Amino acid sequence: NKSSPAQSEFYQATEEVLECLRPLIEQSDYYHQHSIIERIVEPERQIMFRICWVDDAGSVRVNKGYRVQFNSALGPYKGGLRFHPSVTSGTIKFLGFEQIFKNALTSLPIGGGKGGADFDPKGKSDNEIMRFCQAFMNELYRHIGPNCDVPAGDIGVGTREIGYLFGQYKRLTGRYEGVLTGKGLNWGGSLGRKEATGYGAVYFAQNMLAARGEELRDKTCLVSGAGNVAIYTIEKLYELGAKPITCSDSRGAIHDKNGIDLGLLKELKEVQRTSLEAYLHEHPEAHYISARDYPQGGHAVWRIHADAAFPCATQNELTESDAEILLANGITCISEGANMPSTKEAVDLFLDAKIAYGPGKAANAGGVATSQLEMAQNSSMEQWSMEKVDQKLKQIMANIHRQCADTAEEFGDKTNLALGANIAGFRKVADAMIEQGAT
Ligand code: NDP
Repeated sequence: NKSSPAQSEFYQATEEVLECLRPLIEQSDYYHQHSIIERIVEPERQIMFRICWVDDAGSVRVNKGYRVQFNSALGPYKGGLRFHPSVTSGTIKFLGFEQIFKNALTSLPIGGGKGGADFDPKGKSDNEIMRFCQAFMNELYRHIGPNCDVPAGDIGVGTREIGYLFGQYKRLTGRYEGVLTGKGLNWGGSLGRKEATGYGAVYFAQNMLAARGEELRDKTCLVSGAGNVAIYTIEKLYELGAKPITCSDSRGAIHDKNGIDLGLLKELKEVQRTSLEAYLHEHPEAHYISARDYPQGGHAVWRIHADAAFPCATQNELTESDAEILLANGITCISEGANMPSTKEAVDLFLDAKIAYGPGKAANAGGVATSQLEMAQNSSMEQWSMEKVDQKLKQIMANIHRQCADTAEEFGDKTNLALGANIAGFRKVADAMIEQGAT
């Protein structure tokens, strides 16, 4: 029932999952008997709240806050918080829905949830960010807990924001506990969490290529985004001998034929928090394309010749016309670091072409998986080494790839990892829901 245009992203996400589930549902009426589809598309709980905070000029500002606790069949709700002006209840609902299946694919005990606010962190001072995070937590704290709902970061929410959120939670509850992940390393964070989503998306690509007798080494790669996921995708691509030649932010894209200067990218985005245009000061030979000059209905990054692509910025950033050009240019591998970055039409083209296509809910699951490893370290009061976390991440990504590939083969479409991911994730959640009764 598509009654609300404000939920278009949620409908896009559900349609993709439900289409993939068709062969499973047609096999027997087991899931139908338990009304699982009707139950799984409905969040267990949606919280919407007002956030009032005071800016540096002394004015009161108001934003909308959300937390969608979508499904707890497999464990406490788990999923990030997004602070971006484009956030609506529909955005959070789509992200929460995707999170259910992603978390199931990790095989770890975590349910699906997501949250955020329509707050724009750009141009805000550190103190304003802190006051906003405190105001956000003033409401959120009553709905979360280490055994009930454990938020993490997403767009606009990194270690700085998690710190302010955690500090306020502690102050309000008087408890020092693992209620958020992505924490600082000396106050409960896990080594490897910051890197996990990007590294995981590259490990997933490595697994897809290995299954086809290929490898990442020497491949030229396109990356979009310049945030947490993009930066650590680029880092791991270099480690594996590939050459990432692009990155982008909301204002434009960099194309550096010599390979993206990772140290400079980190300095610009993690330290200075400035526009990518500044990349040219150090590398005048690189090419900067302003978002104003992007091709009609597309993204400049996807128009560049390369072997593999890693969309790592945001939803629907890779369109049908982008996909047509990527394929015409001979792309062989797409691994989605972002959530739902390719439009439905683009995904259909990738699947028809039978290239190695890793859907976000599988390819970017390394972040949430490592968040769960952070929870495990918090509850056992341990801190694991980077090697241990990275080893586990590698195993988890290989296991996710195997589940997707095996399930795709079981349903007669061996190369369709989107089909495999959706059915494998769904079965785990649906079976747990049925075993737990009609609640
Ligand atoms: P960040 O905020 O660290 O970075 C986001 C990047 O994407 C920035 O470079 C930003 O540009 C750009 N961007 C954001 N929105 C838009 C937009 N509407 N148009 C163009 N560019 C945009 O976020 P993350 O790297 O954490 O997240 C990126 C993606 O990965 C999201 O889809 C997120 O849901 C997904 N993801 C993240 C995980 C994590 O662990 N962080 C886990 C799994 C998925 P600018 O610098 O100008 O703001």
